[in-house]
Amino acid sequence: MTTSVHLLLFREDLRTRDHRALRAATDLAHRHPDTTVLALYVLDEETEGIRPLGGASRWWLHHSLVELQESLENLGIPLFFARGQGTASVASLSAPLGVTHLHWSRRYTPPERSADAALKTWAKSQGIEAHSYAGHLLHEPWEVSPASGDFYKVFTPFWKAISAQGFREPYGAPEPLTQNPAALSQEVRKQCAALLSLEELDLLPTRPDWSGGMKQRWTPGEKGALAACNEFVDGNLEGYARERDFPAAPSTSFLSPHLRFGEISPATVLYRVGRSISVMTTDATRFATEVGWREFCWHLAFHHPELHEKEFRAEWSHFPWGKADNPENKELFHAWCRGLTGVPLVDAGMRELWETGYMHNRVRMVVASYLTKNLLLDWKLGEKWFWDTLVDADLASNPANWQWVAGSGADAAPYFRIFNPVTQGKKFDEEARYIKRWVPELAHLSAVEIHRGAEQGYGVLAPDYPSPLVDLKLSRQEALAAYSDWK
Ligand SMILES: Cc1cc2nc3c(=O)[nH]c(=O)nc-3n(C[C@H](O)[C@H](O)[C@H](O)COP(=O)(O)OP(=O)(O)OC[C@H]3O[C@@H](n4cnc5c(N)ncnc54)[C@H](O)[C@@H]3O)c2cc1C
Repeated sequence: MTTSVHLLLFREDLRTRDHRALRAATDLAHRHPDTTVLALYVLDEETEGIRPLGGASRWWLHHSLVELQESLENLGIPLFFARGQGTASVASLSAPLGVTHLHWSRRYTPPERSADAALKTWAKSQGIEAHSYAGHLLHEPWEVSPASGDFYKVFTPFWKAISAQGFREPYGAPEPLTQNPAALSQEVRKQCAALLSLEELDLLPTRPDWSGGMKQRWTPGEKGALAACNEFVDGNLEGYARERDFPAAPSTSFLSPHLRFGEISPATVLYRVGRSISVMTTDATRFATEVGWREFCWHLAFHHPELHEKEFRAEWSHFPWGKADNPENKELFHAWCRGLTGVPLVDAGMRELWETGYMHNRVRMVVASYLTKNLLLDWKLGEKWFWDTLVDADLASNPANWQWVAGSGADAAPYFRIFNPVTQGKKFDEEARYIKRWVPELAHLSAVEIHRGAEQGYGVLAPDYPSPLVDLKLSRQEALAAYSDWK
């Protein structure tokens, strides 16, 4: 090995463009030829507080890593894999390789930050230089605060403060190094027996392989992310503000899983969309605001530990949510998960989720409201199900949105705002195209019959479709009564 060995840790930044850590290490290597750059992905399911990935995310991660490995090799950098407690894995690999520098992109939830702080402390104790960089967000959460000095709990002033600063130009991919990745890979493997192949991380489902619908629907990886971004900017961006709420037509960007795994940075997306709010079209401004919601959710996750386990507003931890340990609730929850509630829009959404790992945003709000209000079940049950089944499930947007719908979140919808899934269906899926696509038991009916049946029942018109789990009007009243008693 050379005198300087730079080890890049990849986590939720699976890209080569607009990647400051990669840029810093390769810039140094170009200036100082006596430098080796290596890359490592550790599947960390052991560090306390770090949430193991759900099944759909694991599937995505595998495919994203396949592409990252290839892209890094084209830059001359071999990517290695390991499994275990993050700091311990890096420590055990660094000594035999003579690592002198570590580089990584920052993470933002409290357990991840503690793990990275521990890694920095360990590196210092070994005389290893450790450098962390921004990249997953537009701004570091500690750089954005209101005049009061606390943190933003309301979206509008938060976004006003951030968007006023404009969107920076992203960095391009670095120039390839002259290193030979294959030779380096062999040399490193000889010295580190603990390294695994990507297959050995065992991320893909096998028994059974339920990923067919996701394979058809998505192209994980940086190339897929850039293609999705370009396709959106050149196509559906025009009309986004008007069309984004209608689930039957593909009018949104579908960038969420790509952003979640850091295959594209939010800075790249916004720079491509318009650089500055002041010169953006209405459609671009609306889209940028949605990316702003992602940023806001991370802001909340940074400031509120365990957003997925604890209500943002503490008083809500005493709300009488139904838990799954009660057998009756268990049945309701299972019917919701499987898309067998007898409410067409809810069932369509839950089946889209199961098949593709994705659900349209409007429908996510409807199914979340149905679970927490009509079924009166704990939002954490729904959050966990989404965590396991969404390809874009993340530690910020998922719990923050669940809490937003449930009423316990920052800047949340008030609890008494209960989405009526029938009215939502009529308004946003008037021709019932989305419902027919995902609920084949109703596909032979007209849109009028579908929307009417959602209120009155289908009877002989759709004998294979389940009857409603609960009466929508009655369950709404019960939810409001529970809220009023609790208050
Ligand atoms: C109950 C519930 C759970 C959710 N869980 C997640 C999740 O785990 N991960 C996730 O990325 N989004 C989540 N969302 C937000 C939203 O539904 C998805 O981001 C959106 O549907 C992704 O599709 P898109 O990329 O085509 O969105 P677009 O409409 O094209 O929006 C562009 C980007 O803005 C961001 N964005 C849009 N809406 C929101 C929002 N409400 N909150 C935060 N970011 C947003 C996403 O990064 C998205 O890719 C959730 C929403 C609800 C109601």
